[in-house]
Amino acid sequence: VAYQVHSGLMGHVSAGGRIPLGLKKKGLRIVVTGGAGFVGSHLVDRLIQRGDSVIVIDNFFTGQKENLIHHYGNPRFELIRHDVVEPILLEVDQIYHLACPASPVHYKFNPVKTMISFFFFFRAMVQIQLRPEFVCVLGTMNMLGLAKRVGARFLLTSTSEVYGDPLQHPQVETYWGNVNPIGVRSCYDEGKRTAETLTMDYHRGLGVEVRIARIFNTYGPRMCIDDGRVVSNFVAQALRKEPLTVYGDGLQTRSFQYVSDLVEGLMRLMDGEHIGPFNLGNPGEFTMLELAQVVQETIDPNARIEYRPNTEDDPHKRKPDITKAKELLGWEPTVSLREGLPLMVSNFRQRLFGDPTHKKQ
Ligand code: NAD
Ligand code: UDP
Repeated sequence: VAYQVHSGLMGHVSAGGRIPLGLKKKGLRIVVTGGAGFVGSHLVDRLIQRGDSVIVIDNFFTGQKENLIHHYGNPRFELIRHDVVEPILLEVDQIYHLACPASPVHYKFNPVKTMISFFFFFRAMVQIQLRPEFVCVLGTMNMLGLAKRVGARFLLTSTSEVYGDPLQHPQVETYWGNVNPIGVRSCYDEGKRTAETLTMDYHRGLGVEVRIARIFNTYGPRMCIDDGRVVSNFVAQALRKEPLTVYGDGLQTRSFQYVSDLVEGLMRLMDGEHIGPFNLGNPGEFTMLELAQVVQETIDPNARIEYRPNTEDDPHKRKPDITKAKELLGWEPTVSLREGLPLMVSNFRQRLFGDPTHKKQ
């Protein structure tokens, strides 16, 4: 497997001849798949800040090196260009598995690959455990797999999409969902549901320590500008003086979580004692028309709204019940939509116009 590694020098001594502070404290060795993406790169920032050593695995389907460039040269950071549909083994303490096309536009682009991404990721691990005929090829990997078996904890970033078009509101973790298995969204919904199943089977059957997060709609700096998700669409449209495209009647709801709240939740889940699944989302619920109004208030009160036909199987409502995360992880979101949106807007403004102080025309 050809891959590209960007890393600092382990054991690097700073100009003053002293060992950099981060090396004195022994942190964890952590893999973040999809770490060049929106959520992943914020997670990497926090882990590095905490003193851990982080290896990012990403094929750059939607991720960008710019999201991680500030870590290049850091001795505790490595970046590997690699597709998770191919096996890879590394000796690590924890695996945050985020790699996956996440926006409807991207996951519908190659639905079969979206679905099998999960199978291939787990196949890599299952082969090591169950298929002796692979030992020759995977012998070296087996040793790393053994280290993984005894040490690594695995966190799956699942999604609120496992609830499909929910018939229960708000959604509690015990709700089994309402998913169309043959619809255009099912490559993602069913792919993540299967990933949850595999995670639990791997835990029950092979004793691996696992964690499952069900993430609700998240926004913030570094989101792909043109990935088609509603917050990024509205913000980019308002900044570009284009109409805000509301799909359907705009009365469908979502609950929007700021990325730093999610990252805090993921880390508490990984480091805590509970498997989950846990809903990680902000219970503040908005219709798409209400979201458009917040975007207008934040960026441009004169931004027009343009109605477009809605997409197939669009969930009518979505709002997390986070009682379980509050009680067992001591976690709840702290950033409201009105507080978080301006932070994302200044990042988008800078990326679109190259000037953080760009004035409305
Ligand atoms: P993103 O598209 O910004 O990040 C995904 C990352 O995975 C990208 O860097 C991409 O290049 C990488 N990737 C995709 N396929 C890969 C492959 N086959 N091999 C290696 N890398 C690959 O998306 P995000 O919003 O940061 O989402 C991260 C995770 O969180 C995803 O698993 C997603 O399903 C989950 N999630 C996100 C949200 C949200 O609102 N952002 C909601 C629910 C779940
Ligand atoms: N949506 C919209 N305008 C857009 C993009 C999306 O009204 O430009 C709607 C979409 O129909 C859905 C909601 O916003 O009802 C959230 O869509 P998104 O793709 O962000 O996330 P998901 O559907 O995966 O929750």
